[in-house]
Amino acid sequence: MDCLFCKIVRGEIPVKMVFEDDHAIAFHDIHPQAPVHTLVVPKKHFASLAELGATPEDEALLGHLLAVVSQIAREERLAEGYRTVINTGSDGGQTVDHLHLHLLGGRAMEWPPG
Ligand code: 5GP
Ligand code: ZN
Repeated sequence: MDCLFCKIVRGEIPVKMVFEDDHAIAFHDIHPQAPVHTLVVPKKHFASLAELGATPEDEALLGHLLAVVSQIAREERLAEGYRTVINTGSDGGQTVDHLHLHLLGGRAMEWPPG
């Protein structure tokens, strides 16, 4: 499939990988918006959060992706906190149509987002 993150999952595009298991990978964002900016990506293709249902499988996957974020944040020693973002669709600012979570940390975040 001609999807950027599917290509990264298949190892066809090099990234700075920080985590991999049967269900997900995590790697450094190419345009970091904070000292730590990691993307957590399911290996299975979903265009966005809007594609997931309330099935046990989808709920388990989402829980796993959040657990991966939490584990990486611990490894990065983000003891002061961090932000987790899922952009969805054009209004949500999504630019890559394969579900992913942003882990942003290492500086104080602002609110509201732009
Ligand atoms: P979105 O805007 O869809 O929420 O986030 C997509 C993210 O993917 C952006 O932060 C962008 O910098 C990142 N990105 C886009 N292309 C690549 C790439 O080829 N490699 C890596 N590591 N990150 C990418
Ligand atoms: Zn994909």
